[in-house]
Amino acid sequence: MATLTQAQIRHLSNLMDERYARERSEIAIVTQRVREQLDEGVPADWTDAALVESALASDNAVINQDTADMRDIRAARERLSAGTYGICTDCGEAIAYQRLLAYPTAKRCIHCQHLHEQGRAVRGFPRT
Ligand SMILES: [Zn+2]
Repeated sequence: MATLTQAQIRHLSNLMDERYARERSEIAIVTQRVREQLDEGVPADWTDAALVESALASDNAVINQDTADMRDIRAARERLSAGTYGICTDCGEAIAYQRLLAYPTAKRCIHCQHLHEQGRAVRGFPRT
């Protein structure tokens, strides 16, 4: 089974560090913008209220996505220090380097990821 070289691991680790820093600053920017929006006070009419609300909801979605990504990156770092990074958590096979390049926090190989998503889709939409 093809294991990652030290250089590949270093490269992937750098990719994750960059992404982590980017997401942290994105959260800081969005949080600042939300604060400014709230400081402008209660909107005068319903239309404005709906606009503020939808702006806050999309900011919220950005923050949720960023914090989920940051959590994935922290988990990947733990796998790195445990020596299990790049190994599929389901089947124990090596995850392809190309897949990790596209998705450095991947914890499953492409095959197991497909199975996982199919299982989730089936559970998500029960047909009786
Ligand atoms: Zn697998």
